[in-house]
Amino acid sequence: MSAALRGGRSVTGSGAAEVPALEPVAPAPFDERTACWGASMPASAEGLREWQLRRAWEVAGSLAASNPFYAPRLRLPAGRDAASFRGLPVTGKEEVVADCAAVPPYGSRTVSSPHDHRHVVETSGTSGGGHEVYALDADDELAVFRAAAVGFWWAGVRAGTGVLLTLPVGMTAAGIWYYGALRTIGANVLSAGAYPATRKVAALTRYRPRVLVGTPSYVDRLAAACRDEGVDPATAGVASIVVAGEPYSVEWAIDVERSWNARLHEQYGSTERVMAWSCPNGAICDGALGTLHFPPELCYWEVIDPETREPAADGEHGELICTPLAAEASPLLRFASRDRVRFVAAGSCACGRPLPGIRAGGVERYDDMMKIRGVNVWPASFDAAVFGVSGALNYRGSVRRAADGRELVELVVEGDPRERQSLAGPVREAVHRLVGLAVEVTVVAPGSLARDVPEGFVKVSRWTDQRRPGATR
Ligand SMILES: [Zn+2]
Repeated sequence: MSAALRGGRSVTGSGAAEVPALEPVAPAPFDERTACWGASMPASAEGLREWQLRRAWEVAGSLAASNPFYAPRLRLPAGRDAASFRGLPVTGKEEVVADCAAVPPYGSRTVSSPHDHRHVVETSGTSGGGHEVYALDADDELAVFRAAAVGFWWAGVRAGTGVLLTLPVGMTAAGIWYYGALRTIGANVLSAGAYPATRKVAALTRYRPRVLVGTPSYVDRLAAACRDEGVDPATAGVASIVVAGEPYSVEWAIDVERSWNARLHEQYGSTERVMAWSCPNGAICDGALGTLHFPPELCYWEVIDPETREPAADGEHGELICTPLAAEASPLLRFASRDRVRFVAAGSCACGRPLPGIRAGGVERYDDMMKIRGVNVWPASFDAAVFGVSGALNYRGSVRRAADGRELVELVVEGDPRERQSLAGPVREAVHRLVGLAVEVTVVAPGSLARDVPEGFVKVSRWTDQRRPGATR
């Protein structure tokens, strides 16, 4: 283990244990402040944004000139500012899927030679509508690995650091990109994604990796599996946990840091090449959700208010739209992610980096909005209500239709054992007050919801919609 332990911080102001921090013992292979690998990159937020916009227009120009998919769709304006760029059409998931189906396997966007391809990733297809397919050449691959390596470095990974990767390395992007990024740093990767939880616990106790990577629900599942094996996660030696793929609450984050005696980090990433990582401050900062910063060289990101089509201001929600700056083999222009993020302007994070980003805690999907009893409801509204109640750690919700046709909403809430008896009433009241719906509440012990988390990289939704046969959302 090359990274020594020293220092630490208090997780919250509520007397939580000091969390050990991995200390850097070697200089980063990139600029730690700007997250840039390239020499002579700008140092200021404005300079980096100008550089990104210039590169984004180069991508647009090249696609408009000769790409079989984009050339017929693009008429570039004379101006080259950010507002003109916002005027270019977005690319939707359905268009990419249809293009891949019409010109298999990579779609007409991909004009690179197959001899240059180094690997292929597919989207999971869980949101319906089929798979997007992306080929990566050597430069594309390096750009992805480097952007992700920045985040792992910020999470404390160094050459030789043991990392338990609980995601399978398959044909979806997350596992193989994490693996490549960790190897770029020289980490000692325990690629355990294909094994059941008991074997992952065995790897934890045998090799004592300092960093654990997984979805929030899988981290819970692993903690439960540890306890089943008589292992206290707090003594497993994990100093840093990197999560991705699912929303979570501040309470959950604080509980995880306490349970594992580790610092929580988070990554947001998409196959279409937008990425954001928590800085060394971690995913929570002074008891509140921290910031995930965009590495500037990977993509030109936009956070757009869907109503006004204008950029979201600091602290506001918007849709993340990305134009990859290093995706030669399978290019994209203004991919509309349907991911709903909260924008964080450069300088708003306590780390002082000139890098804008998004609020930690996981992103929502614009497709996630539910219609319950005729009312449009966001899962985040339930999150705010439930997690606003002291002692509520985690929950799952379901909507079903009773025999008489009424729509019933049921919440299963994991409660702190000290406050479990008195939790159901306040949760019911908070949901009624903040969401405007009457719900049934069942309180269960911490860790109960982790038992049914499946193996593999499966994004577990808090919500199931049982109103339609076979539907999960
Ligand atoms: Zn920061």
